[in-house]
Amino acid sequence: MPLVLTEADVARTLEMPALIGAMRGALRSFSAGDVVQPVRATLRIEPAGGYYAPMPAHLRDERGGALGVKSVAFFPGNAGGTLPTHLATVLLLDPASGALLAILDGRLITEMRTAAVTALSVDLLARPEARRLAILGSGVQARSHLRAIALVRPLAAVRVWSRTGSHAARFAREMAGAVGCPIEPAATVREAMRGADVVVAVTAAREPIVEAAWLEAGMHLCAVGSSAADMRELDGGAVARCRVFVDSRAAARVEAGDLLLAEAEGVVGPDHVVAELGEVAGGAPGRRSVDEITLFKSLGLAVEDVASARLAFERAVALGLGTEVPL
Ligand code: NDP
Repeated sequence: MPLVLTEADVARTLEMPALIGAMRGALRSFSAGDVVQPVRATLRIEPAGGYYAPMPAHLRDERGGALGVKSVAFFPGNAGGTLPTHLATVLLLDPASGALLAILDGRLITEMRTAAVTALSVDLLARPEARRLAILGSGVQARSHLRAIALVRPLAAVRVWSRTGSHAARFAREMAGAVGCPIEPAATVREAMRGADVVVAVTAAREPIVEAAWLEAGMHLCAVGSSAADMRELDGGAVARCRVFVDSRAAARVEAGDLLLAEAEGVVGPDHVVAELGEVAGGAPGRRSVDEITLFKSLGLAVEDVASARLAFERAVALGLGTEVPL
């Protein structure tokens, strides 16, 4: 009988340090060719103005592999209401037989695995002495990113900007004490970025909010918010100034508006992507100097969800969590 794991169950099974390790392994496998996964097909859902995507993946690894699919819905119109903007469910299957092992809440998995992957990029690409973090956005991902990045660099100062100023202030107030350093709201993106070592963009912006002129030597940027060809958070000039890494080269050709729109403007070419993060995790060169500006463009991969679900399932079995349900 499959095990049903609610969001509360998933919260008890997934811990960020272990998840960052799991994402390192999953992305290494992905870049080594040990993952079968199509580039995401996303359906536009009208008149609600939402998006829906089924995300299957098969991971082959030394732990017996993992197989599953995430069903994810992004409905920006839910903002401010009772439902989150991102809703998801993961089905985890036995890769030896195809049998259904578990049905997991995927909302928290999405929240946590995305931050874990960004934290991995910070660990691999930011300067070792990076201490000052700028967060652009103040929603679900902003919160999880703050906690995850604090695990890979000892933060000394955090600034947060959000489109709605009161949301940045609320974030600073509610997250005070979460990572042991001051968190201040910033009135503008430029102010948030000034002097930052790591800049994380986790907004639903469609037009650039980050301008090339605001980049500083040695920064590491993480562009996480856009996963569509017509959306971006960075202007073309900013992308051109960076040494660029992606989670998936194939997905970036289809979904990475930050890169594709810069390419359409003629400021970068298709060869501007240096490597996948999984290649860097596997030993490929990352940052080459303290002055270089690095960019990790995150799109979010099904293998991240499936590897996270396997981790949650294994821990749930060990802890006796979840409910077995006959289907
Ligand atoms: P939330 O709905 O919780 O937060 C959305 C944030 O985006 C808020 O801070 C909001 O600012 C800001 N925002 C919305 N519209 C605009 C705009 N036009 N310009 C600037 N800021 C804007 O969403 P999440 O935190 O869950 O997700 C944030 C983004 O990350 C989304 O675009 C989402 O699709 C993406 N994402 C990417 C993943 C990946 O793997 N790469 C995985 C999951 C999500 P305010 O409230 O101040 O108005």
